[in-house]
Amino acid sequence: MVIQENKVNIMSLPQSEVKRLSKENLTQDDIEYLKDKYGKKFVKALRAVEERKIIRYKFKPSESATWIVMGRGRQYFIIPELYCTCRSFYQEVVISREATFCYHLLAQRIAEIREEYESRESTDTERRKLYVEWRRTD
Ligand SMILES: [Zn+2]
Repeated sequence: MVIQENKVNIMSLPQSEVKRLSKENLTQDDIEYLKDKYGKKFVKALRAVEERKIIRYKFKPSESATWIVMGRGRQYFIIPELYCTCRSFYQEVVISREATFCYHLLAQRIAEIREEYESRESTDTERRKLYVEWRRTD
């Protein structure tokens, strides 16, 4: 019988990878290294960053921030390094525990490190409406 530790899965990139990702131009070596380690997730994450699919909302007057990744047909709500509303996060991270993150979480980290995301400002009133959409997990 396998006893599973009852811990929260946290995605955390090692400092060496943060350093690689923060370079202005990624070399072929950087890309190969990250592809070896994260596979298809890295490829999809990098593409999402290049296509500017990561958005950081700042709401006023609370100054709270929210990260969103645009997926096909809908937007995914992200809590950096911790949570995503997509189906694969639910299945692979929460239920089967075969991963600690989905490609959206990786994309958010890459976008934040490389400062390659879109910034949007909105109001707290608007945020309440947006949250109804973002909280969907289907
Ligand atoms: Zn996700």
